Amino acid sequence: MIIDKEKLFQIKEKALNDNIPILQDESLELIETILSIKKPNKILEVGTAVGYSAICFSKYLDKNGSILTIEINEDRYKEALNNIDKLNLSSSIKVVNDDAVKYLEDLNEKFDVIFIDAAKGQYINFLNQAKRLIEKNGIIIADNVFFKGRVLNGYNEHKHRTAVNRLREYIDNIKEDKDFKSTVLNVGDGVAISVKI
Ligand code: SAH
Ligand code: MG
Repeated sequence: MIIDKEKLFQIKEKALNDNIPILQDESLELIETILSIKKPNKILEVGTAVGYSAICFSKYLDKNGSILTIEINEDRYKEALNNIDKLNLSSSIKVVNDDAVKYLEDLNEKFDVIFIDAAKGQYINFLNQAKRLIEKNGIIIADNVFFKGRVLNGYNEHKHRTAVNRLREYIDNIKEDKDFKSTVLNVGDGVAISVKI
């Protein structure tokens, strides 16, 4: 897949101006490196926002590969559709406007890479679904697992504690799961990588 760099740059700049939490450059670099080794055929993304990460990932799809990405917010979903169309990627990136918590329950396809980048309080839920939907040798990647460092802090404001606890559960869960080889890296806002072995 060939990506129009100028158009991608405009999408990124607009997202940053609109305070949409798109992938940080160094996290994207890490994930792109993994994708370039893996050459996935099917990618599942939880949390599309305006399609920035999905567009970046599409470059590394195997031929005839595809991305399924889920976004709960209707405005963002529409902007993502528009962005994906502008880059002529509509045939390889499918965007669904739904709550991924619900949508994943009914999904029964397998994916080579699953990227979790949505509501932090639901990470454990997304992880359980991802474990069911990942192919052997597939890779589950989660962004923002350090939640701006809060996950590493001893004390956090009350309003953040549930998300912090869920993220800690996520990290503990993947580290203990013998079916996965996992590493949690201090890159960007924290990236967890789990390979189904
Ligand atoms: N992956 C994007 C950024 C995603 S930001 C990128 O890097 O370009 C997180 C997105 O997840 C937000 O747009 C938010 O609306 C969405 N989200 C939050 N909870 C969700 C849920 N339960 N189901 C689907 N999307 C959700
Ligand atoms: Mg993120």
